[in-house]
Amino acid sequence: MQGRSTEIAVIGAGPAGAHLASRLAAEGRDVVLFDPKGAWEKPCGGGVPTRAIREFAFILENSIYPRKLVRRITLISPLDRRVTLNLEEPFAVFSREVLNRLVLDRAVEAGAEFVREGVIGFSRGREDWVLSTSGGKKFRAKFLVGADGAASPARRRLVGIFPKQDLALAFGYNVTVDHSQTAYGLNGDAASQHEPVADEVVIRFPREFTGYLWAFPRPGVMNFGVASKLGERTSDELREILMEFVRGYYGGRMPGSERMNFFGAKIPTLDVASWKDLKTTGERWALIGDAAGFADPITGEGIYYAFKSADLLADSLIGSIKIRDRRNGSCACDVSPREYERATASYDVAWRNAFGRDLEHASFRLPHFYHGQFFGRIFTDAMIFLARHHRGVRTILSRALVGEQSYLTLRRDLLRRAWRVF
Ligand SMILES: Cc1cc2nc3c(=O)[nH]c(=O)nc-3n(C[C@H](O)[C@H](O)[C@H](O)COP(=O)(O)OP(=O)(O)OC[C@H]3O[C@@H](n4cnc5c(N)ncnc54)[C@H](O)[C@@H]3O)c2cc1C
Repeated sequence: MQGRSTEIAVIGAGPAGAHLASRLAAEGRDVVLFDPKGAWEKPCGGGVPTRAIREFAFILENSIYPRKLVRRITLISPLDRRVTLNLEEPFAVFSREVLNRLVLDRAVEAGAEFVREGVIGFSRGREDWVLSTSGGKKFRAKFLVGADGAASPARRRLVGIFPKQDLALAFGYNVTVDHSQTAYGLNGDAASQHEPVADEVVIRFPREFTGYLWAFPRPGVMNFGVASKLGERTSDELREILMEFVRGYYGGRMPGSERMNFFGAKIPTLDVASWKDLKTTGERWALIGDAAGFADPITGEGIYYAFKSADLLADSLIGSIKIRDRRNGSCACDVSPREYERATASYDVAWRNAFGRDLEHASFRLPHFYHGQFFGRIFTDAMIFLARHHRGVRTILSRALVGEQSYLTLRRDLLRRAWRVF
């Protein structure tokens, strides 16, 4: 069979796949990256947490990729209690088309080959994978990476799809900013009115709901969304809750339909039992990002984990494999299966240590976070109540919201601070 031969084939050019491709290509590895959509407006809030900005400094390095830096978050509890947090370090909000372009540009600049076609099938030969694309091309690769998102066809082939309990459903609207229209920031009264598209995030926790609503300001757009455990509410119910939220944000009037783009998608939010045997690697393959199941089960935030898992796999593929053959500008052509085995084993240990245990604990805490009690109040309401009165609690909450607070110590840290309030 003819077709281009490469060392590593990466399916999906989102943050996970494109970042992996740029890391490997920068080391001189031969990488082909596939995505039928290129850089596109993936359904997403586009919130890039502070931790991601700190660890992956390139995200903010180049101002040709516009984004908003957010320093204020208003939280609204199920009992309508509010608190506004001022963050010491901002987080960023991007249009996903822009963020995806940023990572894809870097991959191509580093030397990865980008093929703007979908992978429609692959099979494993004795030494190579054989991939077929939507454009009728064939590729051979020694190592295969699935970075193709929550609905990952690669995952489906290699491990099986995520069961219902491992997914959340999210809907949203991107609303083009109309500077003549006032945003009321969900307070609805003139006294609390703020400027249209203030650089402030709003998060509302509805009653008896495993999830939340958000309003994220982006350059030129307000991004609204709702996410909840799959199967808990019907799609119609979620859309109704979302519309009420958007209406409230604009003081009771929906923006014109010509300004609103609707989107919907699933997010992996693994059940606590699913972390134990989560399979992310096998013989000459690995999964990263959403395809692996790496998103925060409580917040649905997955962009950091997409970058981080790509980074850890890149470290493993670079660190475990000694390059012997650099002829013809490419390298690692004679990597042995044992070396790939070492690399995948190292990646499995690395992601569990870096964030796996924390996310597993978040899955364990999820029912309590949304439905439990703290000092006799609904947990989220208690957090907001305490945050209004105590700087220490505000700090912990701010850290949790920007991805800087470990779930393993969240309850302990909150309790320590809360005792000083009561
Ligand atoms: C509504 C919503 C809001 C969200 N908001 C946030 C947020 O504010 N902050 C945050 O951190 N996370 C958020 N997330 C999660 C975040 O979007 C994901 O965790 C993140 O995009 C994962 O990156 P990834 O590269 O793993 O996958 P993706 O970004 O999904 O990229 C996968 C890529 O694979 C491509 N692909 C699919 N099939 C194939 C194929 N057969 N061949 C080739 N390519 C293929 C797709 O076109 C896509 O470009 C949100 C998710 C949703 C659904």
